[in-house]
Amino acid sequence: MIGSRGAFSADDRILVIGLGRSGLASCAVLRGRGATVYATDEKPAGELATPIADAGKNGARFVAPADLDRVLPELTAAVLSPGVPLTSPLVRRVQAARIPVLSEIEVAYRICKAPIVAVTGTKGKTTTTALIGSLFRKAKRPTRVGGNIGNALIAETAIADADEWIVAEVSSFQLESIRSFKPRVATILNVSPDHLDRYHSMDEYAEAKFRIFANQGPGDTFVGNLDDPIVGALAEGEFAYRVPARALWFGRAPRRMTALYVRNERITYAPPAGDPRPLEIMPVSEIPLLGAHNVSNVLAALLVSLAAGIDPETLRAGVREFRALPHRLETVAESDGIRFVDDSKSTNPGSVVAALEAMTGSVVLIAGGKSKNTDFAAMSDAVGKYAKAVVLIGEAADEIAAAIPAGVRVERASSMDDAVERARSLAAQGDAVLLSPGCASFDMFTSAEARGDAFAVAARREREPVHG
Ligand code: ADP
Repeated sequence: MIGSRGAFSADDRILVIGLGRSGLASCAVLRGRGATVYATDEKPAGELATPIADAGKNGARFVAPADLDRVLPELTAAVLSPGVPLTSPLVRRVQAARIPVLSEIEVAYRICKAPIVAVTGTKGKTTTTALIGSLFRKAKRPTRVGGNIGNALIAETAIADADEWIVAEVSSFQLESIRSFKPRVATILNVSPDHLDRYHSMDEYAEAKFRIFANQGPGDTFVGNLDDPIVGALAEGEFAYRVPARALWFGRAPRRMTALYVRNERITYAPPAGDPRPLEIMPVSEIPLLGAHNVSNVLAALLVSLAAGIDPETLRAGVREFRALPHRLETVAESDGIRFVDDSKSTNPGSVVAALEAMTGSVVLIAGGKSKNTDFAAMSDAVGKYAKAVVLIGEAADEIAAAIPAGVRVERASSMDDAVERARSLAAQGDAVLLSPGCASFDMFTSAEARGDAFAVAARREREPVHG
């Protein structure tokens, strides 16, 4: 039966929609549990050879969208891969046939024996998820990390024992089609404008994120960021009733509701129960990550870990050992006194602001790419304050240029190599060249990682000798 936990078995006939990494993992796991698995993908007919072969290798029979009607009557459920929107015609057809469409994280949850820590937010998810994973491991808790962070969640939950922990990075897209997904601990880091090409409004986008706690109960914990206006609005007043779990709040300053906060540059815990005397966890200066936004990410990871019962000394040691993940304010080269910082994972205006605020000294910013219908005016002030020049790349260059205040020099570049060379010429000794695009990468690159790698290669190249 598909309706309950511990489900998906030989009685089920399941269609996996979308054959990316997590779709293929879904095929393999469901087949391994004895279900009959079909797989489909919207790719044009000419590009189906690989999906067909991949589906076969993972125990699924490929069904082309045109042939879907043949299998629809026998299906008991469909599993949606993270990249496929609920609005896709394929999904609509399956729903019209009254077949439940479940997201991969929903299925991952239903087969999972271990408690789940789930992390969402517009920005900081991967960093915080990885940090929570390493803090749990530092505390000797057997822990598996999965989801958006790189490996399919279902592949981890399928093999996790009841005494292990799962730390899951989940996106708003995946939360849209959950039904019973019920994390033991859930956190929302922040909600800032992003993906407005997919959501009609900020409210709709926030609601997708709020689904992370919708199925929680009083025995579960919700960890929220009181500094974020949208998340913080859930703390008190008319919206507080919406959080069914025990709610714990963190913020970068002490406030009435904060259980974890910064006071006198020290991270301090005011336990919500038991001995109420505030306990110092660690000085902020020991956080080995750049920027105030990363202080928030660390606070979230610490409060989640404290809620899970990990002791403060272990947490302090765990945070000190943690290192920035690739493409997230990562220093990739230093030459002629200029530091090159790769923040390619910055894909909305809010993360450009966070990156600029994290830099010390003057900055030449490289930004641009494929817009997600967000308003670049949100980064105008920070660009005016921290950037001496901006080099623009990609489709959104004109749109961003219109948001850059007068007085900041703007140049256009045709490629990443060109952008890095221009930025290098504009920078002086002691400056940083920061790639923080504020946009998706798909107009010029296959991924944000490929974009960051191209930046690093160009940054490490020796400057051309000047002749004459
Ligand atoms: P996500 O997985 O949510 O995309 P990451 O941890 O991968 O987040 O960080 C991606 C980028 O977002 C970073 O390079 C940084 O510029 C920015 N960022 C990280 N955490 C935050 C935060 N709490 N607030 C704003 N921006 C952030």
